[in-house]
Amino acid sequence: MKCKRCRKAAAAVDLPSHHSAFCPDCFFVFFRRQVEEGIRKFSLLEPRDRVLVCVSGGKDSLVLWDILMELGYDTEGLYIDLGIEGYSDRSGEKIAAFAASRGKEPIVVDLRREGVPIPEAAKRSRKEECSVCGTVKRYFFNRVAATRGFTVVATGHNLDDEAARLLGNLLHWHGDHLERQHPLLPGEGGGLVRKVKPLWRVSEMETAAYGFLKGIDYVTEECPMSEDATSLVYKEALSLLEEKMPGTRSRLYMGFLTKKGTFLNFLTSAEINEAPPSGAEHPGTCAVCGAPTYAETCGFCRLKEKVGRGAVR
Ligand code: SF4
Ligand SMILES: [Zn+2]
Ligand SMILES: [Zn+2]
Repeated sequence: MKCKRCRKAAAAVDLPSHHSAFCPDCFFVFFRRQVEEGIRKFSLLEPRDRVLVCVSGGKDSLVLWDILMELGYDTEGLYIDLGIEGYSDRSGEKIAAFAASRGKEPIVVDLRREGVPIPEAAKRSRKEECSVCGTVKRYFFNRVAATRGFTVVATGHNLDDEAARLLGNLLHWHGDHLERQHPLLPGEGGGLVRKVKPLWRVSEMETAAYGFLKGIDYVTEECPMSEDATSLVYKEALSLLEEKMPGTRSRLYMGFLTKKGTFLNFLTSAEINEAPPSGAEHPGTCAVCGAPTYAETCGFCRLKEKVGRGAVR
């Protein structure tokens, strides 16, 4: 099959949801335009932004860092080493090699050194690994951004991630989560920095194809803690729908973003939208570490306290 854009070279990437197929060079143009359109549509980034890109060693976050550099943004990569035996070390090595090949050095937060490696912190606090991981990551995204002068934090969530999350939120009628689900979360002052997802228009397959064709070497293994993640079930369900009806995934997510206002008004009137716990509009500061929080102490300090107190099960 010939590329549908240049009509000369052989197509290397087939995109049924776009009724297209591209050669590598034309696919790079397509991918770049999709990301640029995603950034433009919701004003995710400004040319003068200093962007902190959160990298895990997987394809999405390294592709994100790569394309933001190519688009000319001022970026640095942040790697949070979760302290997971083997997996975290292999991820760190891939990131260091990627960064070095582009004349960069990642900022690294080592959770073992911080006293909260995920597997142990989860056991001691008697919480799920992914819940602990979420609290810790949010804390360091904000802290590193605030202390090092970044104006925005970018993560590599793609269309598949966001559509799966949307499906989960809808199936469980999580009104508060639906309200916050968007490629742009504005900063709230007091150290809560703006968060953006510039890959929200591109699918997992497109991101993987871009990474492969660009020769980006990433960690292919999944985080060992993700084995029973329900998000994988939603992804599978959507893949099935996508296979039978190409374009379903993007219609679901983009339709939600377009109709979100009207839809959430309905949810609120149906009284299933939860208010923020404190009712406060702006965060205060944590009594222990000074980080922004709506409670007296921040989630990270409460976790550290539990980890310090807890005995391993
Ligand atoms: S699967 Fe869970 S523990 Fe692993 S990186 Fe994701 S949120 Fe963190
Ligand atoms: Zn072409
Ligand atoms: Zn704190």
